[in-house]
Amino acid sequence: MKIAICPGSFDPITLGHLDIIERAADIFDEVIVVVASNSSKKTLFSTEERIELIKRCISGDNIKVDSHCGLLVDYAKEKGAVAIVKGLRAMSDFDYEFQQALTNKSLYPECETVFLSARGENMFLSSSMVKEVCALGGDISSFVPKIIKDDINKRCKGD
Ligand code: ADP
Repeated sequence: MKIAICPGSFDPITLGHLDIIERAADIFDEVIVVVASNSSKKTLFSTEERIELIKRCISGDNIKVDSHCGLLVDYAKEKGAVAIVKGLRAMSDFDYEFQQALTNKSLYPECETVFLSARGENMFLSSSMVKEVCALGGDISSFVPKIIKDDINKRCKGD
């Protein structure tokens, strides 16, 4: 069975993330969405909340959600993952992602990093952009799954 992992902060999950996760699930037997739970990083949603929001947006038996704190390759090894799937947006993602891919490859050569290109409409979509628009009272309907829109609105407005 070929397992892939989709890592990220997902604070919160956006339509851009979801598109990458679903496309990965069409390619691999199982996809594990791995929420980075780095306690030093300030996030809008807790790790448990981010997991719960993701679970509400995904469908399909071959997509699982988990969290991990520490080196991603350690998690990949533990699960026997053959690939780390990342989404690539504008060129600005490239340097950082390429650096990470090379580092992970040297730490764990059995695991490949696979890049899927973002869809045109998601090219400039990020969790931070969603939080910014939301905090300023903008409409986030075209950026996040409908089912979690209200939760994000509430949190961004400090409720
Ligand atoms: P963000 O940059 O939105 O905070 P994360 O750090 O959670 O996102 O990113 C997790 C993964 O999802 C990364 O591989 C990132 O490139 C990818 N990703 C984020 N936003 C998009 C998008 N709009 N389209 C495609 N992939 C994306």
